[in-house]
Amino acid sequence: MRNVTLNNGVEMPILGFGVYQIPAEQTERAVTEALAAGYRLLDTAASYQNEEAVGRAIRNSGVPREELFVTTKLWIQDAPAERNTERAFETSLNKLGLDHLDLYLMHQPLGDVYGQWRAMQDLYRAGRVKAIGVANFHPDRLVDLVLNNEVTPAVNQIETHPFFQRTGDQELMREHGVRIQSWGGFAEGRNDLFTNPLLREIGAAHGKSVAQVTLRWLTQRDVVAIPKSVRPERMAENLDVFDFELTDDEMASIATLDAGSSLFFDHRDPEMVAWLSGRRLDS
Ligand code: NAP
Repeated sequence: MRNVTLNNGVEMPILGFGVYQIPAEQTERAVTEALAAGYRLLDTAASYQNEEAVGRAIRNSGVPREELFVTTKLWIQDAPAERNTERAFETSLNKLGLDHLDLYLMHQPLGDVYGQWRAMQDLYRAGRVKAIGVANFHPDRLVDLVLNNEVTPAVNQIETHPFFQRTGDQELMREHGVRIQSWGGFAEGRNDLFTNPLLREIGAAHGKSVAQVTLRWLTQRDVVAIPKSVRPERMAENLDVFDFELTDDEMASIATLDAGSSLFFDHRDPEMVAWLSGRRLDS
């Protein structure tokens, strides 16, 4: 597994396992199988409501803690967010059964963003988490956060897939030392990704599936990917992307699939902001 180096020197696997939308009762099995398949980066969130199951799978796996890279996320906190953030962090850590996190992400650019970030900086400085970052930050919000705080986010986890490629955003993040991490790398199958003719054709040339071409394309762009699957055969398939390389022509043809907008929702849409903000989850 190739690692990337974050802006504070911490190493993170370029490919990991996401557990969004895996029901809590299925998560322990899925994570157990993912760890057995060889995944070492696990991506969960307080709002996924499956941190305890992730923790059980970690404990029962026998994989040494230092080999794992565990990410969870802070849900939106009201102002003043400092105490809420610390409490939410401790709750997540307890549910996971860990004494530190590898990466803690602010899940949405909403609520008391600056209070949340100050508290996350304190957790980082206290050694409770090896790196802190954000998710779903558009460039304007990200640059504002970077310019007005002491710790630059190590990661911005954003929707990134063949139909929304984020190359300009990635370049801006690179300039500021923020690593791009893709969520929804398969667009959750939207837009018929898994039967896309171009991705199929490229896959056929390498003896690889559309999923593998997609993950190879992301990682070849230095984008960290965290595909989700509840099926062991797909978990293995999704890890098997480091024995081939896409040509410059293939990378250029995949670039033509970019439609430049979300297949899910825009975090700047006022209705979506209100909807997300209504879903409080502070424990
Ligand atoms: P995704 O990884 O783009 O797609 C998952 C879907 O693809 C599932 O339906 C899965 O089905 C299917 N799939 C997986 N491997 C496949 C393969 N090899 N062939 C065919 N189908 C395959 O979607 P995602 O879960 O939304 O995104 C990945 C991770 O990003 C999440 O789990 C979460 O950790 C993170 N995320 C973060 C945010 C955020 O706001 N920060 C938002 C969304 C997601 P099966 O399970 O049946 O295999």
